[in-house]
Amino acid sequence: MYDKEKGFYLKHVVFAATLLCNLKCKLCSMYVTQYEKPYHPTTEQLFSETDIIFRFADYIGRFTITGGEVLLRTDFADWLLYLCDNYSNRMNELRIFTNGTIVPNEQIVTAVAKFGNKVHIVVDDYGPKLSVHAKEAFDALNGAVSCELRDYCDNLHCDGWVNLNNFSKKHDKITAGELYAKCSIAKDFICLDYVNGKISLCAFARRAVELGVFDAPKEQIDLHNESKSMEEKREVFLEWEHKKSFTACMYCNGRCNDSERFAPAEQIVKG
Ligand code: SF4
Repeated sequence: MYDKEKGFYLKHVVFAATLLCNLKCKLCSMYVTQYEKPYHPTTEQLFSETDIIFRFADYIGRFTITGGEVLLRTDFADWLLYLCDNYSNRMNELRIFTNGTIVPNEQIVTAVAKFGNKVHIVVDDYGPKLSVHAKEAFDALNGAVSCELRDYCDNLHCDGWVNLNNFSKKHDKITAGELYAKCSIAKDFICLDYVNGKISLCAFARRAVELGVFDAPKEQIDLHNESKSMEEKREVFLEWEHKKSFTACMYCNGRCNDSERFAPAEQIVKG
């Protein structure tokens, strides 16, 4: 939307800094285990992707950094400093998710602390066999920045995960609209997926397009596509805001309060 003060405004962007991960979760919400070569931008590409999304958006309400596992990036602290110096005044809030396998080093803690009260870090705890350093990671951050240790073993956050791995068609336009209206990802249009220059409605929509499940060119915005001006791309996005559902929702189970829940972070075991 256009905001009088903020300009072209996106409520929430989920920015993939890498799709490399050190866990192999069957129901990964970013589908990282489905890639033979997960997306892992070079430092230069990462900086450039950051510039590109902030050329598209004048202001982002919540900028979420996710992976994969973001702490696998050896340049993470440098990138955070770049993000802070150039764009922290163009976001309301920064969120970072990490899977509790790696303790952030001092440079990272110092870099995130520069965002002051804008930053919140979520350390997911999938139990001592997987999130082997969850408590240490939390302790390294706690006090320097706002952070939480999110329990996925004893008192399951959101009662567990949902399964969005089935890409068969399930809905007509009407029931897709009903699903979209109650999907937590879509509510208030908050959760755009940004991977390698492409803005998708959500990770499910991104993966469905990659798998060739449907063809809906106006439901993904490619910021690398130079044949379209930034204004034209913004116009496509403004049309999204009026949609009652997307093609992707016809193939999806949604992420709803009443969705069936599954054990979090169940690992793929190669047999
Ligand atoms: S495709 Fe699925 S997850 Fe994405 S907004 Fe539609 S119902 Fe929600």
